[in-house]
Amino acid sequence: MSAVMITRKVRKWEKLPGKNTFCCDGRVMMARQKGVFYLTLFLIIGTCSLFFAFECPYLAVHLSPAIPVFAAVLFLFVMAMLLRTSFSDPGVLPRALPEEATFIEMEIEAANGNVPAGQRPPPRIRNVQINNQIVKLKYCYTCKIFRPPRASHCSICDNCVDRFDHHCPWVGNCVGKRNYRYFYLFTLSLSLLTIYIFTFDIVHVAMRSVDSGFLNTLKETPGTVLEVLVCFFTLWSVVGLTGFHTYLISLNQTTNEDIKGSWSGKNRVQNPYSHKNIIKNCCEVLCGPTYPSVLDRRGLMQEDSSVSTCADPTSSSTSTSSSSSGGNNTVSQTTHAILCLQKPTAPLIPNEHTPDDAKPSIAASAEKSSSPKEEHPPATKVPPLASPETDAETSIAKDKTH
Ligand SMILES: [Zn+2]
Ligand SMILES: [Zn+2]
Repeated sequence: MSAVMITRKVRKWEKLPGKNTFCCDGRVMMARQKGVFYLTLFLIIGTCSLFFAFECPYLAVHLSPAIPVFAAVLFLFVMAMLLRTSFSDPGVLPRALPEEATFIEMEIEAANGNVPAGQRPPPRIRNVQINNQIVKLKYCYTCKIFRPPRASHCSICDNCVDRFDHHCPWVGNCVGKRNYRYFYLFTLSLSLLTIYIFTFDIVHVAMRSVDSGFLNTLKETPGTVLEVLVCFFTLWSVVGLTGFHTYLISLNQTTNEDIKGSWSGKNRVQNPYSHKNIIKNCCEVLCGPTYPSVLDRRGLMQEDSSVSTCADPTSSSTSTSSSSSGGNNTVSQTTHAILCLQKPTAPLIPNEHTPDDAKPSIAASAEKSSSPKEEHPPATKVPPLASPETDAETSIAKDKTH
């Protein structure tokens, strides 16, 4: 056996855990499920194309050439905000390195002491004080970190996201700290575009109906009916969504916090992030500083691979084990299994042709081969931990009573 060490440089995004997909060498980052995102693109581009094809030529001549120009500007703005939301890092938090995870586990065990078998261990929670309010930091069992305030784990992307708002299938990405304002501008501009197209569809049909009748107008511009239908059904949901997010921004609250009732309901804990002023809250969410991505997904890291070759010249099989270093996400993985030539190891089963004196030795060897399995009993089912939400609520309530 001889071993050869191979070091190669890889981009960090290639080794990131989680369920995101990357394009353009890590520049574009999205969720894995993108079907609904393509539907969003199809609806926006399709409706606008029909508007430019059927309404704009008539309206530009009979009303104002500014109508198609404004529609085009609005359309481009909507697309820019959509792509900015969809293709960017929403604020994914890197997972703990194996050494960090071990250290955190040791810290937790030391703090909790020995938990008797069969009893639930206490919830993994740390308290921090923000603007005189106690805020819980919950432990993420997947990422092995205590999440920063307002962060949450997205089950679809399988990552913790800072200032997590929600996972939006329509934009094909999580909405979090780094892309929330673009998401809001997208819903706001899409509402305006939908109202704009819907209004000028009606104006167009009304103007043409005066000259050539209502039915003839619909026959001449078949796209108009389709546009009116799409805009009518989109209008309610998009305008409603924009209104909801305007309300959240005015309170400096996220969708996740609103759904969980983090700052309302039985907790009665005031939102420590709110400035108690609508304008200040809007300014912070929409005009505050932009945050750099902490993933450094285009950064380079070294991947060391040891390639060991079998001594048998007839064998061309190799075994490779690789380990990466130099980045936030150290990954060790075996890239190839050892495939050295071996004799078949199928268990011998005594049959009617087996001599009687050989049967005991076969039975003994079969028992021996199965013995290692007994050294590894099946994983015992760990009782589920207490719901962090319930614990957080109880703990907050306790803090309040003191
Ligand atoms: Zn997580
Ligand atoms: Zn997500």
